[in-house]
Amino acid sequence: MICASMQSFSGLSLLLRGLTGQRGWTPQWRSPEPKAEYDALIVGGGGHGLGAAYYLASEHRLTNIAVLEKGWIGGGNTGRNTTIIRSNYLWDESAALYEHALKLWEDLSRALNYNTMFSQRGVMMLAHTVHDAQVFKRHVHANRVNGIDNEWLTAEQAKAFCPPLNIENIRYPVLGAALQRRGGTARHDAVAWGYARAADASGSTSSRTARSPASAATDAARWRPSRLRAARYAHRASAWRRRVTPASS
Ligand SMILES: Cc1cc2nc3c(=O)[nH]c(=O)nc-3n(C[C@H](O)[C@H](O)[C@H](O)COP(=O)(O)OP(=O)(O)OC[C@H]3O[C@@H](n4cnc5c(N)ncnc54)[C@H](O)[C@@H]3O)c2cc1C
Repeated sequence: MICASMQSFSGLSLLLRGLTGQRGWTPQWRSPEPKAEYDALIVGGGGHGLGAAYYLASEHRLTNIAVLEKGWIGGGNTGRNTTIIRSNYLWDESAALYEHALKLWEDLSRALNYNTMFSQRGVMMLAHTVHDAQVFKRHVHANRVNGIDNEWLTAEQAKAFCPPLNIENIRYPVLGAALQRRGGTARHDAVAWGYARAADASGSTSSRTARSPASAATDAARWRPSRLRAARYAHRASAWRRRVTPASS
């Protein structure tokens, strides 16, 4: 869902801004004064928190949402991961969940009007031992039963897919590989920014808070979660969760 007030990106707009010294860009999301009450409060402005805000707004028409972020948007795990996207997980439930996500990724840049740099160049996992080969083949068969693309390649086929691959002159030679051709990479922090601006345009607010770092202590008083009220409350603070103080809702 793209709101009319959101500044849109296109090849032409990028060219025009480039020719005019990059002037005219506006902030992509707000960092407003907090309101006393929200329908939903989300702690953590990573991919999950901002994705939750975006889909609460676009799918469930909930627009009075605040996302509380103590650092910067997309600066958590979302901004420092390996960037791999794939859905070839073993268990039926995982595979279904990740396949749904992969299908969302395929249309996300268009839906958000924001380049997530998603590239389906394929994700190949190399088998170096008999055990690896058995496990990967098990994944391949389970995925194919679920209609998810995953294929077993011989070492030679793996090298044909990725010519720089050294399959022989190494301590643990490559015995084969599992390849998901629809897998690939994306820039996850760009996804967080895309979600942030789309959620913001639909009424949610992405905001900084200062729960932990002393450097932002001035914000802490006004953003102390015990002073905010919400009908729903979600922690999306991931690995930082142990530092989160439970908030009243
Ligand atoms: C090294 C590494 C490699 C990875 N590789 C991949 C990969 O290849 N593919 C893949 O899909 N996944 C990968 N992941 C996993 C993926 O990055 C995470 O699952 C995902 O980023 C989690 O998103 P999140 O929004 O839950 O957390 P985060 O992105 O960590 O966001 C949490 C946010 O909460 C904020 N926060 C914390 N405490 C508070 C507080 N008290 N108040 C306010 N804000 C707070 C933090 O500042 C942070 O911005 C990898 C992870 C790591 C660490």
